[in-house]
Amino acid sequence: MLPGIARFIFNMQEWCLGRNSFSILRQLRSSERWPRERLDQLRLERLQRMVHLAYAHTPYWRELMEQHKIRPEEIRSFSDLQRFPLLEKSTLRRCREEMVWREEGKRVQLIRTSGSTNEALQFYTSSTREAHINAARMRGHEWIGIRRGQREMYFWGSPVELSKQDRIKRFRDWLINDGLTNGFEITPERVARYFGYWKQWRPRCIFGYPSSFVLMVHMAEAQHLPLTELKERHGLKAICTTSEMLTDVDRKIITEAFGVPVYDSYGLREAGLIGHECQYFTMHCMDEQLILETIDPQTLQPTGGPGELVVTNIMGPAMPILRYRTGDMVELSHTPCPCGRSLSRIRISGGRIADFILTDQGKWVVGYSFIYICRSVKGIIKFQVRQDRIGEIRILLVTDANFPPDGIAQVARAARARLASTDTILVQQVDDIPPAPSGKYRPVISAVTQQLMERGQFKPDS
Ligand SMILES: [Zn+2]
Repeated sequence: MLPGIARFIFNMQEWCLGRNSFSILRQLRSSERWPRERLDQLRLERLQRMVHLAYAHTPYWRELMEQHKIRPEEIRSFSDLQRFPLLEKSTLRRCREEMVWREEGKRVQLIRTSGSTNEALQFYTSSTREAHINAARMRGHEWIGIRRGQREMYFWGSPVELSKQDRIKRFRDWLINDGLTNGFEITPERVARYFGYWKQWRPRCIFGYPSSFVLMVHMAEAQHLPLTELKERHGLKAICTTSEMLTDVDRKIITEAFGVPVYDSYGLREAGLIGHECQYFTMHCMDEQLILETIDPQTLQPTGGPGELVVTNIMGPAMPILRYRTGDMVELSHTPCPCGRSLSRIRISGGRIADFILTDQGKWVVGYSFIYICRSVKGIIKFQVRQDRIGEIRILLVTDANFPPDGIAQVARAARARLASTDTILVQQVDDIPPAPSGKYRPVISAVTQQLMERGQFKPDS
């Protein structure tokens, strides 16, 4: 499909679904370069409107505001927002039906997401909300040179049995130049097949999880597949990652293998698209749609610097989300970017909070640090760190022919050095590591830290 036609069809589709995504996109292209004061004025007005609507239309927020003696008209600055208590994921799950404003607009409907700790979460969305998210996503893609309508390949989950609805979606995706390749279940044979398919399909951008790309790179190398051909002869311009923390190590591996820049994006289905990198690899926040704060996850007090991200969505009135605890550790700043956009910045600093290991010395170790250990030894194509009880840490490895004879000892040694504890470290080679029920591959699973966190007893190792 020609990009112009695909863009037109996408525009029509959005219009039929009651989403004015393209007109929001035009506004976003302009507001991202406004002086900061003007941008903040817009955000404050949107916040005030959201609080008014939440009070007027949802029993949950009305009751909460009455209980905390907050009147909508008293929200006069961003700091007034802190009068609202934090919104926990468990509250969102429990009180969902009291939080929805069903008459907000078109297509107010329940959707489902998989939470970072594997529990599915259901919440309401609407055409208004989806239009803003789609516009924000299109803007982020434009920053890295991809316009809607150009070919984008989704290296993503794919159902085995296609339902009728899936078939319709496939056809629609074909019309709008979106492709799909299964990035959740990867084998060497599939990698060779995907490579052939991508060369033929000629995506301008491929979108997926960092771990899927890294795995593909390792498997492609083992089969001597020249991934750079996608760029050199088939028009690939960029790779865009999402959903997991993109480490510097992984970004380098993917960039070198494909020969194109790798840009990261960050979003939560229940909160919207939060950040997208620009051409300078700065992750900018979607300031027009969100108010972001950081808190200390222990004291729950606001922090000036790094902390757990708390999100307020100011453009999704069908289900108002005010001060929602994400569980993700980030750093927010207003440092200017060479691209000249006035949007603030976000840096994801510690991966998901759920992914920590607790040593017998009481130290919480950020799960993602195991990536550095496992990527320092050749031939490891997948790994998982598991902790079922204090004192014992198991590292499972899926390896290929490049794995050295003393590889297990190397990994154990590196892990011991990193943990600086007397934990028993067991390193095992396994045939495969299946993804979690959500479809996401989790590099670290600790029943110990999960239990402690559920009881609110934890302290990240910084
Ligand atoms: Zn920038």
